[in-house]
Amino acid sequence: MELDLWWLLLFPAFFGLGWFAARVDMRTVLKQAKSVPTGYYRGLDALVEDKTDIAAQALAEVARQQTSTPELQHTLGKLYRKRGENDRAIRLHQRMLESPDLPSELRDAVRNELAQDFRKAGLVDRAEEILVQLLSGNMALAARRQLLDIYQQDRDWKKAIETARELRSDAHSFQHEVAQFYCELAQAELHRSNLAEARQLVGEAFASNRKCVRASLILGDIEFAEGNVPAAIAAWQGIEKQNFEYLAMAAERLFDAYEKLGKPLEGIALLRGYQQTFPQLELTDLLYQKIATYEGETRALEAVREAVHARPSLSGVYRLIESQMDELSPEGRMDAEVARALLFKHAQRLSVHRCKCCNFRSRAFFWHCPACGEWESFTANRSES
Ligand SMILES: [Zn+2]
Repeated sequence: MELDLWWLLLFPAFFGLGWFAARVDMRTVLKQAKSVPTGYYRGLDALVEDKTDIAAQALAEVARQQTSTPELQHTLGKLYRKRGENDRAIRLHQRMLESPDLPSELRDAVRNELAQDFRKAGLVDRAEEILVQLLSGNMALAARRQLLDIYQQDRDWKKAIETARELRSDAHSFQHEVAQFYCELAQAELHRSNLAEARQLVGEAFASNRKCVRASLILGDIEFAEGNVPAAIAAWQGIEKQNFEYLAMAAERLFDAYEKLGKPLEGIALLRGYQQTFPQLELTDLLYQKIATYEGETRALEAVREAVHARPSLSGVYRLIESQMDELSPEGRMDAEVARALLFKHAQRLSVHRCKCCNFRSRAFFWHCPACGEWESFTANRSES
């Protein structure tokens, strides 16, 4: 019994030892924390608060005091660039590269940063020069991505195709992009009336992405230019199977082709069929004009009414009011005029293509978003939501 009590006395001793160990650890942590300059914390705090000017000032001060911290200088350079202080970022990265103390494993990363500084400052040639040299090192992937951006910006589609193919991975096949680059080349050849070259390039676009709608549009244009009207119609109709949302882009071309064959009513029937099957397509205005020309105002009005009832749209209602203005009394016409003007204003504001990636909105359609640089991200039809 006495022996058991003696063992109990050991418990407070263990607690004491634990407390002592914890105290020793805390002292080490505090000592290390005190060795980090306060400017570093001030810089971090300012960054969190989004006060990049104060952050840059504080971190620059720390970097001056502690010249042996290339990682901090690396971050500081990025901060300068983010703030648009491109000259300072360039000078800092150049100084780092001149320093014999820069660890070799950081050298390529700093050169990659310097290339970004040059790009941001508009000195794209100098950026490209550095990036090409980085293609064999440990920053090859980042360098290649930057080069792909540069080639797209410069509209150097051949180099863009080459680079995108080298970047191909399981995560990103670049098939859509490469097809679009070929379409850019094909479009340029078509403008110069080099139809054989354009046809060959469209073939390459299909080889990269057989669902490339833009390639079908261009192929139809080539066939039409060569006088192969039925082949042009077949190419444009093929869009229905690729992605029907883009059919409205081929609608006017299709009608013109049928008109050229002397079969405008067949063209109208085709477009009306599309409108009934896919009410989200913007065909109302075009159909109204063509039906009014070939079948008269009454049939045109019927078609608009049918479309508006299937899927109400501001532009459709606008067209409905407009076509019935003549039948109204003078007072009724004044009221209708107000409603029509209001509808027009809202339809103008709301009928826009929208980038599904960055939400950029535009009346004009782009295959390549001018805001975020994504391909095929624009909605094919102008939504009114
Ligand atoms: Zn975008």
